[in-house]
Amino acid sequence: MALIVQKYGGTSVGNIERIRNVALRVAQTYDAGNEMVVVLSAMSGTTDNLIRLAHEACERPDKRELDVLLATGEQTTVALLAMMLKSMGYKATSLLGHQAEVVTDCACGSARILNIGASRIRRLLADGQIVIVAGFQGADIHGNITTLGRGGSDTSAVALAAALKAAVCEIYTDVDGVYTTDPNICKKAQKLSRISYDEMLEMASLGAKVLQIRSVEFAKKYNVPVHVRSSFKEEEGTMVMQEDADMERLVVSGVTCNKNEARITLKGVPDRPGIAFRILNPIAEAGILVDMIIQNTRTGNITDFTFTVPKTDLREAVEISRRVAEEIGAEEVMSDANIAKVSVIGVGMKNHSGVASRMFAAMCEENINMLMISTSEIRISCIIEEKYTELAVRALHTTFGLDKPEETLP
Ligand code: ADP
Ligand code: ASP
Ligand code: MG
Repeated sequence: MALIVQKYGGTSVGNIERIRNVALRVAQTYDAGNEMVVVLSAMSGTTDNLIRLAHEACERPDKRELDVLLATGEQTTVALLAMMLKSMGYKATSLLGHQAEVVTDCACGSARILNIGASRIRRLLADGQIVIVAGFQGADIHGNITTLGRGGSDTSAVALAAALKAAVCEIYTDVDGVYTTDPNICKKAQKLSRISYDEMLEMASLGAKVLQIRSVEFAKKYNVPVHVRSSFKEEEGTMVMQEDADMERLVVSGVTCNKNEARITLKGVPDRPGIAFRILNPIAEAGILVDMIIQNTRTGNITDFTFTVPKTDLREAVEISRRVAEEIGAEEVMSDANIAKVSVIGVGMKNHSGVASRMFAAMCEENINMLMISTSEIRISCIIEEKYTELAVRALHTTFGLDKPEETLP
């Protein structure tokens, strides 16, 4: 008997028929003699609709109340699944985040899980129950409902698997595994049978939304084997696991893109010590995450300072930048939301030179201008105009030899 955590994403619980399909899968795994904890997302589109509603109610919804609202999406699906399983004759109980003792920090909208008590889950499991937990939510130490950021149900599931020392955390989604790139963008993407935590961390942080990045951080930290697979098919998906000696070390193993960033440039900034701090500190204090940063020196003691922020924070970041620009005597503030970041990732890059130039050659061949570039030990990213995203992803996928052989294309 093993303890298995299964997480079903929004598409997998998108309507009653699909929830019934989930109930059958859960029942099957339970009947095979396993202990079961099931984590659910809201029905696909629900969280977006709730966010839209909140913005109809007021321009800047209060973050605490927004979390109270967003948490209702997952409350609906866990109740529906639990009542179906009960009507099929199984013992099942649905729990909201706080009932499952998911304790988070107070950062509404992007809270981090601090601890999972799970004593009630253990008691229910000991009673032979199937436990169904609402993903994406927890509560802070004051008892306020919090949510974990978009895609947060993945993190709920892996964190629960870690807390309960589950044998495996199965992530059921609308694709049958982790691919070399988003299979919905590139038909030649190949399914990976295994991927290391480190590569998956990079892929997730650079835009592969198949797993939320924090879920991979948890998986790596607590060594939870994660199996990403389809809720519509039986076949095995992708194991996300510790890197081992047999893992194929391709120079580049994945290509990602992210359209959720925007760029801000302060032009004509005086070039003196402390300026980067003056510009970025108020942005950080507003809780806005800065990703890429570049500074170009012009003639004289003048520079242009450019950085990227999440698109959702662009307005606030521009307001702050305008204020700072005035204080430090910069010429002007420009912003651009029509950008995307494309990246190539691979642990094999550590021991290979020339990866960057191959990437740049591919972009040049497609006549795509790179606006910003950044690198780490196992990835290279560049910012381009958003309209070229798909073209760039496909070109890089081909350049680094990741395309499926022609004869296996559907
Ligand atoms: P869920 O609702 O099940 O959590 P998501 O929409 O969050 O599903 O994540 C699955 C989606 O991730 C896929 O439909 C696919 O478009 C996207 N995706 C992006 N990059 C990849 C990748 N490298 N491999 C697989 N899927 C990817
Ligand atoms: N429902 C949440 C979202 O749409 C969480 C999740 O699906 O993982 O982001
Ligand atoms: Mg998701």
